[in-house]
Amino acid sequence: MIPPIASRFVAGESEAVALERARRLDERGIGTICNLLGEHYDERGPADADTATYCTLLEDIAGTDLRACLSVKPSGIGLDVDESVFRENLARIVDHADAAGVFVWLDMEDHTTTDATLDAYEAEARAHDGGVGVCLQANLRRTPDDLSRLADCPGKVRLVKGAYDPPKEVALPSEQVDDAYRTLLAQAFAEREGGIAVGSHDPAMIATADRLHAEYGTPFEIQMLMGVREPAQERLAADHEVWQYVPYGEKWLSYFYRRVAERRGNLTFALRAIVN
Ligand code: FAD
Repeated sequence: MIPPIASRFVAGESEAVALERARRLDERGIGTICNLLGEHYDERGPADADTATYCTLLEDIAGTDLRACLSVKPSGIGLDVDESVFRENLARIVDHADAAGVFVWLDMEDHTTTDATLDAYEAEARAHDGGVGVCLQANLRRTPDDLSRLADCPGKVRLVKGAYDPPKEVALPSEQVDDAYRTLLAQAFAEREGGIAVGSHDPAMIATADRLHAEYGTPFEIQMLMGVREPAQERLAADHEVWQYVPYGEKWLSYFYRRVAERRGNLTFALRAIVN
């Protein structure tokens, strides 16, 4: 059972609760991005087990008419074991997803994994002519080049500010990340043939995407996390395509700590859930 302290950010422990959440979001016009919690496996067993769980979830989603997709962390399906394990498991998931007609996102983890993640993404996206997307982080200096590399690759790109803390040789100073994000959005709208996802809760970034959409006509979607600015998600869904990232699974503790660590307000909210 997820305790009340964490239930703002994590749907529950099972596929059934993730799908129940998707049903409720669907009624509010919001799509669901399901993420099975679990990362940094250093043995093959749990990575293969989570891959199998994702394949079952894909079949479950295909049996509904819900607007739901997956987002997968490379280290949750074997990248820390070996790149070949990650590639094999990703191929299994994407093949299943293709058959089920469900979209698959690849999360981006710390900067040491960027090349392996983009190589695997590009291979799957080209092999399946889309159906997959990858996350790019605005706080990395390399990202404008990565975005250009993917300009003509089928599939989608999710732009985020970056949740990790890369060393300064590869990272932008934090005060430059918002400007970098806006510049990357402009590049994406000008260059990209495939889809664009704005993975941000920041109203200024969404306003920039709205302006660029008016200029270029390129469609885009907005993605936000479960438990963060949910009233805004509902408002935006009236005239935007909005997706909510919904983590679930037994390994919820470290994800919950991360959410609390990034915002003091989240701790207050979580503690209130215990007191009430
Ligand atoms: P911020 O400037 O951090 O926040 C803007 C405003 O949003 C804040 O003032 C606050 O009002 C609100 N807000 C933002 N975050 C929170 C929060 N946690 N709790 C409460 N309020 C908040 N990062 C990666 O490195 N790799 C990924 O694969 C990845 N995938 C993501 C997928 C999705 C759908 C989303 C939404 C984010 C993802 N991130 C990922 C995280 C991202 O990099 C940022 O760390 C996170 O989104 C906060 O940045 P922001 O753009 O929302 O802007």
